[in-house]
Amino acid sequence: MSVQTLTLATAENTEIISHDPATGEEVGRVPNLSAAEVIAAVKRARAMQGAWAALDFKERGRIVMRARQIVLDEIDAIARLISRESGKPLTEAISMELTPTLDLMQFFARKTKKLLRTEKLDIGQYGLMGRSSRIIYKPLGVVGIISPWNFPWAIPLGEVVMALMAGNAVVLKPSELTPLVGLKIGEVFKRAGLPEGLLQVVTGDGKTGAALAEAGVDKIMFTGSVATGKRVAEAAARQLIPCVLELGGKDPMIVLEDANVLMAASAAVWGGFANSGQACASVERLYVHEKIATQFIEQVVAQVRALEQNIGTREGTDIGAMSSERQLKIVEEHVNDAVSQGARVLVGGHRRDDLGGMFYEPTVLADVSHQMDVMREETFGPVLPVMTFKTEEEVLRWANDSVFGLTASVWTRDASRGRRLAEKIEAGTVTVNEVLYTHGIAQTPWGGMKQSGIGRTHGRLGLLELVAPQHIHVNRVTSFRDLWWFSYTPRAAELFRGLARRFATGNPLQTSLLLPQMIRRLFERRN
Ligand code: NAD
Repeated sequence: MSVQTLTLATAENTEIISHDPATGEEVGRVPNLSAAEVIAAVKRARAMQGAWAALDFKERGRIVMRARQIVLDEIDAIARLISRESGKPLTEAISMELTPTLDLMQFFARKTKKLLRTEKLDIGQYGLMGRSSRIIYKPLGVVGIISPWNFPWAIPLGEVVMALMAGNAVVLKPSELTPLVGLKIGEVFKRAGLPEGLLQVVTGDGKTGAALAEAGVDKIMFTGSVATGKRVAEAAARQLIPCVLELGGKDPMIVLEDANVLMAASAAVWGGFANSGQACASVERLYVHEKIATQFIEQVVAQVRALEQNIGTREGTDIGAMSSERQLKIVEEHVNDAVSQGARVLVGGHRRDDLGGMFYEPTVLADVSHQMDVMREETFGPVLPVMTFKTEEEVLRWANDSVFGLTASVWTRDASRGRRLAEKIEAGTVTVNEVLYTHGIAQTPWGGMKQSGIGRTHGRLGLLELVAPQHIHVNRVTSFRDLWWFSYTPRAAELFRGLARRFATGNPLQTSLLLPQMIRRLFERRN
């Protein structure tokens, strides 16, 4: 897409109005930035990045810790903004967005130096030849972050902190549904003393995101749908720059016959309905062993009936509004399609028009099958379809029968059995007796297999996505030419034949048998 067409398109629509999905009220307005403005932002970021990279980790960490203090001081106001723009309950904005990121901020502020310390490599027999190898980790330059609306604070903020701590500048494009939360992230860092230009938030719609992917950044960190992820990957390929893609999921939860039924049922309800089911790692498929199915499903349905659905900013709300009409329609389509093919609604199954905004009842479906969209496509809403299984083999086959592979969970009182099954599931993260929450752990990697994405965020593996490893190789022996340099005399050929056999065993004793020939070779050259 050319710069010109993007500018023209945004000229007709230069503003984005952010609405509260629970009430329809306007939360605020932000500019819908053009490609030219995004390119200018990347240039400004690049101009500032060198000086930032020259600071030591402690100085960068000080600014991140100051930003952390600002977030702590203003936690309620920020939670309210998150709740108003996304529809999620206030409590959840604090527990699932703010608390984990406060921890992440202190972790990367303090530990990035250690996580990125220079690594000395064991280079085997080359080491005995006076050589050494190290890896140093250098910043990439300017990182473009494109983020979704479902965790408008936690997803971009984690990546911003890791990218900055690694010495990069950042240009962040938040979702058009939650731009004010994105701007808030920028404001917090500005007030914390981050030099102007190092973190810029470019608000806008998909065209602004596409512009950022083409604006000359050094890496794109994208979180969103598979369809958009493929477009971002194409843009990255055109420029031959790397990208991390954190995409959708259809995450299975497997409840074995020896699971604690109350715990597993409570986890299924939280894992399926937190954030109105709009988490990439939400439980989207529930498989229960037939021996405990009746008791388990009764428990799930009773707990769902007790959930309080209301406007997110009201105290006591468990389930808030969905984020958009588009998302709500997908949920309706999946439920209606399942019912038309014989699924039974155990609870829920309708829009909540009485509440005014984008509300859909928490819904549990039985008698579903893998022929239905609700078991194959990402629903991203408050719907929990349940199937029963007889054997481990059967449930593993079903769990892996998906194009997605983000997270999965196994429930059992036998931890080693859980671990054994977990290893057979095709997903980036598999939890045993836990669900959904590990994005909140700063130390563990996050990312998917199959269509759920490429690359990782969080943990050391996530941090390594934000640096360029550089190999530095030093030869301390400066007075002899290498054995393998010119001239290729007949004796050299003979020595190399010997080395091919002996050096390649990896055993220095074997190689030492060739020492006399090697010494002769050191002095043997045509000039
Ligand atoms: P989306 O793909 O519609 O949008 C994501 C972001 O991309 C937005 O900021 C959008 O403006 C931007 N965008 C749109 N078109 C673009 C283009 N052509 N080039 C570049 N950027 C463009 O996704 P969404 O609806 O905001 O988010 C929901 C999806 O995100 C779900 O599929 C969910 O599973 C996924 N998600 C994944 C993770 C994860 O960690 N794997 C986390 C959260 C959400």
